[in-house]
Amino acid sequence: MGKPVFRFAPSPNGELHLGHALSALTGLEMARRLGGRFLLRIEDIDLARARPEHVEAILEDLAWLGLTWEEPVLRQSEHFPVYREAAARLDRLGLVYPCFMTRAELAAALSARPQAADPDGAPRIARHETGLAPQEAAARMASGQPFALRLDMTRALAVLRDRPGGGELSFAEIDADGTTRRIAARPARWGDAVIVRKDVPASYHLAVVVDDARQGVTHVTRGLDLYAATDLHRLLQLLLGLPEPVYHHHRLITDASGRKLSKSARDTSLRALRATGATPREIRRLTGFG
Ligand code: GLU
Repeated sequence: MGKPVFRFAPSPNGELHLGHALSALTGLEMARRLGGRFLLRIEDIDLARARPEHVEAILEDLAWLGLTWEEPVLRQSEHFPVYREAAARLDRLGLVYPCFMTRAELAAALSARPQAADPDGAPRIARHETGLAPQEAAARMASGQPFALRLDMTRALAVLRDRPGGGELSFAEIDADGTTRRIAARPARWGDAVIVRKDVPASYHLAVVVDDARQGVTHVTRGLDLYAATDLHRLLQLLLGLPEPVYHHHRLITDASGRKLSKSARDTSLRALRATGATPREIRRLTGFG
């Protein structure tokens, strides 16, 4: 068996804050403890929000914090053909369909059925509501109308049910003390999740499972805010024939009002803390790594 492989995968949409420091340090510390490798991946598929200056700042902040990682750093925006190929594979299996719904239509769907939201708060869509007859879809594509590709959850779950061993889906969650539990996954709560966005040839969910697999990541360490997404990631790994990593979802750092820190929360950005004189050692202490 090779060494365990860990990664930190920030999106360069803003400045790194204490929550990112916790995530990065969790991955690095677990990698050290298990004699593993540590990779850095820049998740910059969101071309409208990702900025080169944020990438530079991320690399600089992490180095200042004392992190080291293997080169080269994978930048997702340089690998769109790989995600296109994975989406094409799902398409060949008949598991995706084009969705032309606009933002306004999605917002209307959500306000009509607020109880049917996915874990991210987007409307849970089913093919019969949005899928068009093949000719209509082909005509719209030919006319250049932008479309997303959605996973047909009903069909995907049928694939899951029909495989040897039946329809149970779960993932392994490893605690900080090394105890591993199997957690039942409920991907259906995502509905027909977007696999390829309208504006870029991937979505977070597709890119993350493809890259974790091709980078040989064995341990995915990330915040509890992505716990529900793991259900969908396990399903995609199964459909794409990708290996299953172990997961460790760490606690989130919240602000004074109990909300998760966001990239716009300037006061907890590593740069802001550093400007007021905080040292890397203090950042480690603030994130519980003392
Ligand atoms: N890029 C994601 C983020 O910054 C994290 C993805 C992951 O760790 O799976 O929230």
